[in-house]
Amino acid sequence: MPRPSSRISGIVPSGKDGWEVHFAAWTRKQAGEDIIMLSVGDHDFDTPAQTIEACVAAVRASNHHYTPLAGIPRLRQAMAAASTACTGVRTNPDQVIATAGGQAALYAAVQAVLDQGDHAIVVAPYYATYPNTFSAAGADFTVVETPAEDGFQPRAADIRAALRPNTRAILINTPNNPTGAVYSRQRLEELAQICREHDLWLLSDEVYWTLGGGEHVSPRSLPGMAERTLVINSMSKSHGMTGWRMGWLTGPGQMISLLTNLNLVTTYGLPAFISLACAEALENGYGVKQIAERYAARRSVVLDAMRGMNNVTVRGSEGGMYVMLDISALEPDDEKFAWALLDKEKVGVMPGSSFGEAAAGHIRVSLCQPEAVLLEATLRLRRFASSYR
Ligand code: PLP
Repeated sequence: MPRPSSRISGIVPSGKDGWEVHFAAWTRKQAGEDIIMLSVGDHDFDTPAQTIEACVAAVRASNHHYTPLAGIPRLRQAMAAASTACTGVRTNPDQVIATAGGQAALYAAVQAVLDQGDHAIVVAPYYATYPNTFSAAGADFTVVETPAEDGFQPRAADIRAALRPNTRAILINTPNNPTGAVYSRQRLEELAQICREHDLWLLSDEVYWTLGGGEHVSPRSLPGMAERTLVINSMSKSHGMTGWRMGWLTGPGQMISLLTNLNLVTTYGLPAFISLACAEALENGYGVKQIAERYAARRSVVLDAMRGMNNVTVRGSEGGMYVMLDISALEPDDEKFAWALLDKEKVGVMPGSSFGEAAAGHIRVSLCQPEAVLLEATLRLRRFASSYR
């Protein structure tokens, strides 16, 4: 075949060998072993029935045609209302654009603010696709770690030290995947200060905003930030709709108009019946409260079980769909620990180092299992930790 572009060849699935543990756990489970999978980030339950019914009704009502590039008006209206709630800033429909999931919103945001050769700062630990999303734009990036001892909160001094003359954007994610950290208002204010001083865009991934422990602070609400913040949102986590591929981006109206042109050359609009089902789900909050309560209860099960466990410390873990456990007192090599946990106790987790240096010596535990299964997993982990040599 003729040579592929360097742009496409440059997108290489990231993460160290941590995924190997996940794939091994998955294969063994498929083969019938009693493996508890705590490595995946997808709900173990279906989309709420009302949303499914809304979609079926929309299909039956002949919604089979092209849709406006930025999203059907009813959907943009519902997304704008959700953004008002999420960010605390009154949002109009012309300040949002529907995308094919949060990942497409991330892609659009990066394409929108970075030229080839521009530089961005990515706060780590981060969601696995971030580096490739920058590579796909031909942009350069620096990873700034957030120390585990500091609850994985971003530090202004570290971000300032990474700034370059061609830095155009900072990407953050709160509540965070993989750490579950919820960035404090004070840290976000410090970040906002840097963005204002250096005229930077802030790309704020808030796909877990309904799954936070306490108050959700969006940096878009901070002084002077609405004009320089692009917020990434998604139906996947909040509304139990990972497979439906619907998300959105919120930002200044002028930027959203430009992004509509990106949709012209990518998705050319999103499916009509999915858009209508999502609009109805957003308008009525289908599943949102129940999903949030479910993850809060699951987090409590794991955190309560961890309490008093020798040599295992909880870090971050205030929101989102994951809990981060510091196992470095037992074993500095988190990959080795994860493999041994799988082999001995049949529990599959993600080694923290897959998500960056700061999470080395940790394991990421997914909450995407029923409480009883999580409880059993914590018993296995306790047994494993108490005899770890
Ligand atoms: N951002 C973060 C932090 C995520 O964890 C995920 C998915 O796991 C995404 C974005 C992408 O979500 P979506 O399913 O909406 O593409």
